Amino acid sequence: MANQEEIFKKVVSHAKEYGFIFPSSEIYDGLGAVYDYGQLGTELKNNIKQYWWKAMVQLHENIVGIDSAIFMHPKIWKASGHVDAFNDPLIDNRDSKKRYRADVLIEDHIAKIEEKINKECEKAHKRFGDAFDRQQFVSTNQRVMEHQKQIDEIHARYADCMNRNDLDGLKQLILDLGIVCPISGTRNWTDVRQFNLMFATKMGSVIDDSDTLYLRPETAQGIFVNFLNVQKSGRMKIPFGIAQIGKAFRNEIVARQFIFRMREFEQMEMQFFVRPGTELDWFKHWKEERLQWHLSLGIPAEKYRYHDHEKLAHYANAATDIEFQFPFGFKELEGIHSRTDFDLSRHSQFSGKKLQYFDSELNESYTPYVIETSIGLDRTFLAIFSHALDDEQLDDGSVRTVLRLPAVLAPYKAAVLPLVKKDGLPEKAREIMDMLKYHYMVQYDEKDAIGRRYRRQDAIGTPLCITVDNDTLQNNSVTLRDRDTMQQERIPIDNLFMYLHNHIKPMMLK
Ligand code: ATP
Repeated sequence: MANQEEIFKKVVSHAKEYGFIFPSSEIYDGLGAVYDYGQLGTELKNNIKQYWWKAMVQLHENIVGIDSAIFMHPKIWKASGHVDAFNDPLIDNRDSKKRYRADVLIEDHIAKIEEKINKECEKAHKRFGDAFDRQQFVSTNQRVMEHQKQIDEIHARYADCMNRNDLDGLKQLILDLGIVCPISGTRNWTDVRQFNLMFATKMGSVIDDSDTLYLRPETAQGIFVNFLNVQKSGRMKIPFGIAQIGKAFRNEIVARQFIFRMREFEQMEMQFFVRPGTELDWFKHWKEERLQWHLSLGIPAEKYRYHDHEKLAHYANAATDIEFQFPFGFKELEGIHSRTDFDLSRHSQFSGKKLQYFDSELNESYTPYVIETSIGLDRTFLAIFSHALDDEQLDDGSVRTVLRLPAVLAPYKAAVLPLVKKDGLPEKAREIMDMLKYHYMVQYDEKDAIGRRYRRQDAIGTPLCITVDNDTLQNNSVTLRDRDTMQQERIPIDNLFMYLHNHIKPMMLK
């Protein structure tokens, strides 16, 4: 396929054209970084949720799931640190009146220098062919070394400013690097200010300062504040986990890249409570297990990488991201954090309630340590959808658009197609629909030539087409067409259930 930008455009337009994702409030010209899931997008999203829920809750005896409210007591966000520190540094360009994240401007500048290094490497690779050794080249080539030195210097200043919350320093760095606004092309920047990402609202009819509520910026806190409720009512023994899927809201300063960065999105989070001192072993465990979950979807391993954090949040003693190669490069898909006892301790302190666990094996009480796995549902959708979309060149020179979704996630598992709209074939096809429809999402389609109907199903990712023809009436068999191979085979209707079951079985069970 074409270049990355074109691929991404195709992903966005395909998602809209086939009813997966629409811009929110589109007839009113949309709302920034808010999207609606359409009829097929909702199915795909629900299937992703279920795939995660099964892997985390159903397959682990020591993990249970909850669904906490979006509104929570305002003190929760004081205790969690979000009121004081859930900020991004923003900067405005006075000429274009556009707003940017200061950290992102600097990171983009660094990425441009990295791009120069990559170009040098590509050139050298072409020149030296198979003998090219990237490691050796980048550590000896003068130009590359200069670029790298520049990057290291910028990094050091940038990290220092971020750590010290030095906003003037960040602005100075932007000026010193000569970063211009991509719209106006000028360096007419305002000062850098901290911007809190939480949406505030009011509860009740009496409005004063005390009833400011926040839309939750993460689902995790709903788990922490229910730690004791779940532990006691579920008689949970450490180590155990609490999982949750739900909406989160962040007033992102720059929201672009489609559903990668939204202002209203969904997270799938799990907090795993462990004995203090065992947290780094559990961190390693979850880091591996979560990657295995991604790989079980059948997407090649080279599309994923770990990014271990060097600069840790003050409460964490280990953190990594699982990054995915989106059409716009490797970016965070999931975070795995060892959060120590920070959250439970803070909630104990702010609520005055003791949030501890009595460990009968050790005969002592302690505040459990926590490993968090936190994945964005919409980002997972984008990862799976963008990887699945393919313009396949066929032998006859034509191109077919096929959405190679993992069968377990596909909105429709099968389409039932009478070859022609007469001779009793539609009636027979309806019988098959009735047999399958309670158990599987299946679609009936009798319009247009069979080839066009196959293509329509390819474009929405339906793994199997079941075609009913005249022979079906004679011998009760149907033709099954496979989306990926386009191979057809004949099977008795009596075997359909078993066939579908085997074809759609989650990869984590195969
Ligand atoms: P980023 O650095 O990309 O802003 P983050 O480190 O702030 O992400 P976390 O707070 O760790 O993200 O949230 C956990 C997960 O939630 C992320 O890995 C991502 O998949 C998802 N997520 C976070 N912010 C957004 C958003 N604005 N839109 C969609 N998904 C998001």
